[in-house]
This record gives sequence, C-alpha cells and structure tokens, in this order.
Amino acid sequence: MASPMTPDTFIRILREEGVKVSEYPGWRTRSRDAATGLTFGPVRMILNHHTAGSNSRDIVAKNGVPGLPAPLAHIHLAKSGLATMCSAGRANHAGPMGVNAYQSFRDESSTHPAPSRASGTIDGNDVSYGVETENLGNGTDVYPRVQYDAWVRINAAVCRHYGWSAESVACHKETSVEGKVDPRGPVEGYGSRGRFEYTPKQFRADVAERLRHEPGWGPGEDEDMALSSTDIDKIADRVVAKLLAGGGALEGGDIRRFFTTDEILTAPADSSDYATNKHWTFATHVQSTTTAVREVRAQVRSNGEQITELKQAVDAIKSKLGA
Ligand SMILES: [Zn+2]
Repeated sequence: MASPMTPDTFIRILREEGVKVSEYPGWRTRSRDAATGLTFGPVRMILNHHTAGSNSRDIVAKNGVPGLPAPLAHIHLAKSGLATMCSAGRANHAGPMGVNAYQSFRDESSTHPAPSRASGTIDGNDVSYGVETENLGNGTDVYPRVQYDAWVRINAAVCRHYGWSAESVACHKETSVEGKVDPRGPVEGYGSRGRFEYTPKQFRADVAERLRHEPGWGPGEDEDMALSSTDIDKIADRVVAKLLAGGGALEGGDIRRFFTTDEILTAPADSSDYATNKHWTFATHVQSTTTAVREVRAQVRSNGEQITELKQAVDAIKSKLGA
C-alpha cells in the first residue's frame, strides 16, 4: 500500500537523491485533508506543473489563490533548483483527472492516452504528489539546467521510494480534463544535452535513466566511460608495441633500483666476514656469485692441465717398461 510519506521520510529521500531542500514554515501540518474531509492516499503517481508565474512560493505554500486555498502542491521548485516543502498531506494541484489517463499512470503503462471526460473522472488530489516548477509557462521562459536536474531528481526520488517506474511520472496536461497545458517550455540543458523543449516523454526517459543509477549519480557522469571495440583495438596495439620495444612490467629504472637497493638479504653462512656482516645487498650476492663461478672455472681448467701432465708421465713410464 502506497501510504503518503511522513515529512521526515519525504525530506530524507529528496536529500539522498541530491536535491537541495528548504522547509516552508508550517508545511508539516498544512494540508487540505481536514478542510475537505477527504484523506490523502493511497498515492499512485507524481504530477508535474509549471507555476505560470514568478515568485510564487508563498502562493503555493501558504496563500493560495482566490477560490483555491493552499497548499497548491507538495513541493515548489525554484529556478535555482531549490525545492521548498509545502505539504505532506492533501494539496490542491491536480483537479479532476480522466480515469483512462489516471489508470495508465497507476498501472505504469508504457503509453498514456489523452485524458477523456467520457472515461469518467476522479479527484487527482487524493492520489498524486504535486510539484509546482517555477516558470511563466509562456513557451519562451527557460527552465535553467539546475532546475530541470532537480526536477528529475525529485521525481526519481519518489519513484525509487515506492518502487515505481518512470511511467508513474505524469504531467498536468496528460491527466486534466480541464484543458491544462502545463508544463511546457524550453530547457537550458541536461547532462550532455544542450537546449531542448520540455516533453513528458523526454522527462520520463530522464527519470528512468536516473532510476538505473544510485541516488547520488549525476547525469553525464558515466557517458564517456564506455569503450568501443575500436578503442580496445588501439589499446591492445599500444601494449603489444611497448612489449616488442622491450618495455613491460619492469622498466629499466625498476631494474636499476632493484639492484642498488639497500634491501638486505641473508649472507652465505660460509662467507669470510659472516661473523661481522650477516646481511648482504642483492648486488653483493650477485658479485659474490660471479667471483665464485670464475674461481671454479679457473680451478677446472687447472685440473684439466694437471690430468694431461699425469697422462703424459704414465705413458713415459709404460714405454720404459717395454709394455
Ligand atoms: Zn498544473
């Protein structure tokens, strides 16, 4: 059952998703539940709006407009990307929803039909979280990059909390049977993308991408990481060329350091100065071994010469004895 979040949970999931959050005084208890006798929840979707005005935070959070008492959304999102908490209960933002549209978001359908009054209507304020994003809504006022990024984060945070897909993200113009047109307008950019026009489809795609990452992820962070097979071939070629040129795991400098290091090794117990010098460097070991091999070679050569002399002496004795 998708019960509404407590104020603390609401703030926590937003901050975990990287949203800058501010609390409007009294927001934790300000709602439209008691005044209407209706209960907020179970919640089924998030509904996104533009404010169609500027400096509208007080209006959304506390003042409302004639005929429509506040709170007018759960979150007011400023151009700076700051999210102000306006309510954790029932808020006046959705109005009547076409049942066909409502069901497509509730059921997380991959397509969303145009809202039809003929399908029946329900009170959207019972079932949806509302985000009022500050924008004139005149089709030319731009959503700054930081504002759009926060907007995606807010929607992803709520979906992530409830285990919803991005198909639970709706726009007012997709559910209203009263001819609403929000949200709309140009977006400055997002991730590696430059200026584009706001569309519900692109917005859901951006929320979906976010949901495939951890809450702390930033758009565009991993887009340069993927290596093409051409990149991999280039790297392989460089490695082979380096190995063929004599480079490898050990560079010349490594080998030089290895031979001259003061790293101590146990000296041979029969070395002449073993009593006073029980440890040798690697270089001392190599020098000692080389000297020993030379001495052995000289001894073998000397032994061979003596054997030849002995053979000659034996042959001389044999010939004298007339053998
Ligand atoms: Zn709206």
